[in-house]
Amino acid sequence: MEQNILDCVIVGSGPSGFTAAIYAARADLKPELYTGLEPGGQLTTTTEVDNFPGYPAGITGPEMMMDLQKQAERFETKVHYEMITKAEFSKEEGGVHKLYAGNKEIFAKTVIISTGATAKYLGLDDEKKYAGGGVSACATCDGFFYRGKDVVVVGAGDTAAEEATYLAKLTRKVTMLVRKDVFRASKAMIHRVENTPNIEVKFNHELIGIEGENSLVERAMIINNQTQEKSSVEVDGIFIAIGHKPNTDIFVGQIDLDENGYILTEKGSTRTNLPGVFAAGDVQDHIYRQAITAAGSGCMAAMDAEKYLAELH
Ligand SMILES: Cc1cc2nc3c(=O)[nH]c(=O)nc-3n(C[C@H](O)[C@H](O)[C@H](O)COP(=O)(O)OP(=O)(O)OC[C@H]3O[C@@H](n4cnc5c(N)ncnc54)[C@H](O)[C@@H]3O)c2cc1C
Repeated sequence: MEQNILDCVIVGSGPSGFTAAIYAARADLKPELYTGLEPGGQLTTTTEVDNFPGYPAGITGPEMMMDLQKQAERFETKVHYEMITKAEFSKEEGGVHKLYAGNKEIFAKTVIISTGATAKYLGLDDEKKYAGGGVSACATCDGFFYRGKDVVVVGAGDTAAEEATYLAKLTRKVTMLVRKDVFRASKAMIHRVENTPNIEVKFNHELIGIEGENSLVERAMIINNQTQEKSSVEVDGIFIAIGHKPNTDIFVGQIDLDENGYILTEKGSTRTNLPGVFAAGDVQDHIYRQAITAAGSGCMAAMDAEKYLAELH
């Protein structure tokens, strides 16, 4: 049977995937997009998105993602509500890449990987209960809602130190909970934390629960893991800053990843180490992690794919 070889397959349906689809479709690459298990991506797990340009009154995450999908479909992107389970990439210039959605085989000249990253949580039931009511994993996204208020940041690494110093500028007070008796962050970041007067660091402390009326955070329940003494901190927001996991398990051994599993791309482009395979959004970006930067790199990936195909002919 003759193989149906597509010009462009997009894996993932967050802001980067749908933006790649809009651009690829308008460049006549007839993209087919696989949504994965979370159609719309991370933004479908949040309420207000106030910082995406073009929505002066803000918009909810799910609505924004439906708009992006509609825009991609207006240019005839084919959307498959399936997950890619395996990849066999060609290493040849002009080679055909093979993807699997279960038993289904998909052949493509270019693949745009937009599988995102997942914020790590502690695993407390209360994190789910108070999600959208004061628990967040992104200070840039949600810090604004806590201006003049008190917040807790959980974590000991660079991410936690960055989130804490960012929040310290907006909020009245930041309490950092560090599980061990030392930070894991770089010296420069520790220095910034130590020199920010409205950050209080509680070493050897862990978050064990959250309390509040109507699923709105009012206090963080904490424990000193040395003395086992329990106490609480009155706060409006709790930021979990213990890292992210890029969704790259199915690409391990197929494509170059960094030590944390993020896909490596060439500086200033979305090109990976494999010809015809591009990566966009949070799956290749552990720094900015915003919808607008993910969308921007989705645009770049579609343009890189279009250029790659044009140069093959
Ligand atoms: C609670 C929360 C609130 C946020 N608020 C904001 C905000 O206010 N403003 C802002 O700019 N950013 C915000 N962010 C960050 C923003 O959501 C991300 O930066 C952005 O969604 C990244 O887009 P992406 O396209 O790279 O990936 P994601 O949105 O992570 O989407 C990844 C996609 O890949 C799919 N996928 C994964 N594996 C597979 C597979 N094997 N096969 C097929 N598909 C697969 C998933 O189903 C999903 O559709 C928030 C994040 C969270 C978690």
